[in-house]
Amino acid sequence: MSKVLLGHMYLAKNLKCGGVIGFSWKDKGRKKEDAKTIRKWLKRGLAVELLVRYEGDPEPKICTRNFKVPCACQEVDRG
Ligand SMILES: [Zn+2]
Repeated sequence: MSKVLLGHMYLAKNLKCGGVIGFSWKDKGRKKEDAKTIRKWLKRGLAVELLVRYEGDPEPKICTRNFKVPCACQEVDRG
């Protein structure tokens, strides 16, 4: 059985914990917006990755600090 392609998505990852902080679905009609979003992420020191998503793929690891849940990257910040 072949998997259904959902699309391509840009992921913004926190390098300190490897968790995803933001994402944006890649869309042919939104090249400019995508470039802007990516520039913003890079400015914040995030790593940007293009991911191909298929139906049933596991969710990428999320950086949880934005949900007020302790995350590994906060340990790094504390030193
Ligand atoms: Zn984190």
